[in-house]
Amino acid sequence: MILANGAEVIIGLEVHVELKTRTKLFCSCPTTFGQAPNTQVCPVCLGLPGVLPQLNRQAVQLAVRAALALGCRVNPRSKFDRKNYFYPDLPKGYQISQYDQPLAEWGHLDIEGEEGPRRVRIRRIHLEEEAGKLAHEGTNLWTAAASLVDLNRAGLPLIEIVSEPDLRSPAEARAYLAALRTVLSYVDVSDLRMEEGSLRCDANISLRPPGFAGPLEQLPRVEIKNVNSIRNVVRALEYEVDRQAALLDAGEPIRRETRGFDDQSGRTLAQRSKEEAHDYRYFPEPDLPPLVLDERWLAEQAADLPPLPDAVRARLESQGLAPQDARILAADPDAVRYFDAVVAAGAEARQAAVWMLGDLARLLNDRHLGYGASPVPPAELARLIALIGSGRLSGRMAKEVLEVMCETGRGADAVVEERGLNQIADPARLRAEAERVIAEQPKVVADYLAGKERALAFLVGQVMKATRGQAKPDLVNAILKELLEAHRTPASGP
Ligand SMILES: [Zn+2]
Repeated sequence: MILANGAEVIIGLEVHVELKTRTKLFCSCPTTFGQAPNTQVCPVCLGLPGVLPQLNRQAVQLAVRAALALGCRVNPRSKFDRKNYFYPDLPKGYQISQYDQPLAEWGHLDIEGEEGPRRVRIRRIHLEEEAGKLAHEGTNLWTAAASLVDLNRAGLPLIEIVSEPDLRSPAEARAYLAALRTVLSYVDVSDLRMEEGSLRCDANISLRPPGFAGPLEQLPRVEIKNVNSIRNVVRALEYEVDRQAALLDAGEPIRRETRGFDDQSGRTLAQRSKEEAHDYRYFPEPDLPPLVLDERWLAEQAADLPPLPDAVRARLESQGLAPQDARILAADPDAVRYFDAVVAAGAEARQAAVWMLGDLARLLNDRHLGYGASPVPPAELARLIALIGSGRLSGRMAKEVLEVMCETGRGADAVVEERGLNQIADPARLRAEAERVIAEQPKVVADYLAGKERALAFLVGQVMKATRGQAKPDLVNAILKELLEAHRTPASGP
């Protein structure tokens, strides 16, 4: 994205993902969301003196899965470090993280950028622990009655995924986050619930003025901290692009700083000047040995990965789906599972995709449901498609049936039965209806015979109406044409 003043937008993202382990990263406290405050704590995550952390094996495994899925090189040896800072939600006064020897490095994620495909490099992925949660009573320090601390979240396992500054617009940041979310959902390492804080993002943004040829690190970089939804990341970045561009135009300096995002106003607000790594006094965690991963175990983890979105998209296209449909389905592993089950139940692949992405998607959307929770099981959608294929239902009737299926959870055959919704394809019955309509509409018949083709559509409509939409339209069309032609006297012919 090049701005009107010629500056280029440079964005890098740091995404924090909560891993879905049963217990915390360094103790055996449960990770269940939404429990009463300070009920899921122990001396380790409370940071009491004399306790020792013990690394959660499942967290390591999930982190490695994520790293492999993102094409990273997993370091056979990494280590933990203390990141020291004071904040009331951090009982130990430091966070156990990984500094100079992270778990994994040098991966990438391919996205559809604004000017075509773009490969976003991933610099590193490291393991770290979550902090607690603060709640403030009152609006400022002078009037606050109290500040409350809940340490249930303290010590939850996180990975931080750090991208290189390869994104060039807020829209590309959105595409990157969506693609990242998709990959992580395929490997099933996190609940990915942004509203519960299991996916959070820090965004770094700077503008490269025209003619600037130095290294990107020399640009004054603004970090927007802790944004909790993809939509808000995009809003914050858009605001920041405008703010920095205005400063640049006015010849004012852009300060290197950390800013917060205010959801209400859509603005970013200065919080503090940007801290440097040395501000945190990183040093090796003395209570944990280095993390050494066995090569054979790593190979097993790699072999255990499911097919990833790009491979699935290619497979769907090979089944005959349009690239656009394949892309939409492949973005959601639940949708892919559903699609595969519909096809396994006998539906043709393209038909399955059409019904899933059309009517079913709309009905599920209305109910805020995903494909995984669809009230219409895949085999029933396949049955509905079979009823259309065999001519028992018209497309329009099938739409109605699907709606009832979604509403009631009943099967396709049951709904067709109880509504008496069988398509009428009996030529004798349709001929009788057509003859009656022709007798009732002499003027329209005369119009048709005089060459008004549109009169035929009206007559077809009359037959459809008389059969409550159940007549097979192409058959009605053919029968009417045949009967009307028989009305032509030689004199009225050409
Ligand atoms: Zn604990």
